[in-house]
Amino acid sequence: NNTRALYGLAKKAEDLGVRIITGVEVKGFESNNSTGAVAAVETDRGKINCDQVIIAAGPWVRDFWTMLDLPEKISIKTDEGDLRDNIDMWRFWQLEEGLLSINPDQLLTNDGKIPPVLHVDTDAPLFSDADGSLITDKLWGIYYKPDWHFNGIQGGSAPYKVETPVSEVQIDPYGPSSPEFVSGPEFAHMWVSALAHCHSRFQNHIKYYNREPSGGIGCFTADSFPVFDSFRENAYVIADSNHGWKMLGVGRLVAEEITGKSQSLLEPFRFSRFEKGKLHPTSNSPFPWS
Ligand SMILES: Cc1cc2nc3c(=O)[nH]c(=O)nc-3n(C[C@H](O)[C@H](O)[C@H](O)COP(=O)(O)OP(=O)(O)OC[C@H]3O[C@@H](n4cnc5c(N)ncnc54)[C@H](O)[C@@H]3O)c2cc1C
Repeated sequence: NNTRALYGLAKKAEDLGVRIITGVEVKGFESNNSTGAVAAVETDRGKINCDQVIIAAGPWVRDFWTMLDLPEKISIKTDEGDLRDNIDMWRFWQLEEGLLSINPDQLLTNDGKIPPVLHVDTDAPLFSDADGSLITDKLWGIYYKPDWHFNGIQGGSAPYKVETPVSEVQIDPYGPSSPEFVSGPEFAHMWVSALAHCHSRFQNHIKYYNREPSGGIGCFTADSFPVFDSFRENAYVIADSNHGWKMLGVGRLVAEEITGKSQSLLEPFRFSRFEKGKLHPTSNSPFPWS
């Protein structure tokens, strides 16, 4: 249960003396004129002076990047040693998700335990469970799990790239409230057919697909791996590239780094890797974050 897990994490932080203020929108940063460091955070409820700012804004990182006057376009060194210029720093992917409204217990393991999230990537031809037509004979992928919060089988498929120019992508209203970025009928057809491909128990199940809007966009770096780095002396950016729960331990490493202990585990994720050509491997999976 994501909501309960996040309230649990918030409580752990508050028990350590952290004060969480919600409902405040950051509008910009005020700089120290001589050094460029961030002297204050400008919000819709006034200015907050600061010694250090940490930005972990998920898909809104594009806007914080602009507020910090960081480059929208970057140079990347290729494996051959050439410098390719004018590459977008950010790109958006649309994550499509959905729900089969059936008893989630159907996916418990044989001994009644909660299974891991199942991921299937394959190039086996995928046929429609509705009419037998070929959906794709190219690489495809899905993930799914029993979900007692949504009361069904919840999951998604490989995301697709948002082709709108990065600066024009409308991030808000976000997720299911977005008029543009929600899963459509094509997703439902593909995902339920893919579930039926994986388990015969899901054949003829399109009727249980929950039609409520679902999904959302993620903001990714040029190599689809996170950036953890300090900018303008005291602005630490955690740009997660949609890695979700895998990122839980990062907060502690970043705290150590900010208090003076550089973390070797964070080294591969510096912004300078693009210009130095120290990129992460390109995924062969249909998921950019695998
Ligand atoms: C459809 C979808 C499904 C996903 N499913 C999974 C999954 O099953 N498992 C998994 O591990 N990961 C999943 N992810 C990825 C995961 O949601 C993200 O990696 C994770 O939420 C990033 O956490 P974060 O705290 O860095 O950013 P976020 O959770 O995005 O939080 C950023 C916060 O910044 C706030 N904000 C934005 N702009 C401003 C501003 N100007 N002022 C103040 N606040 C602002 C936002 O309101 C938001 O609360 C999914 C992502 C999507 C889109």
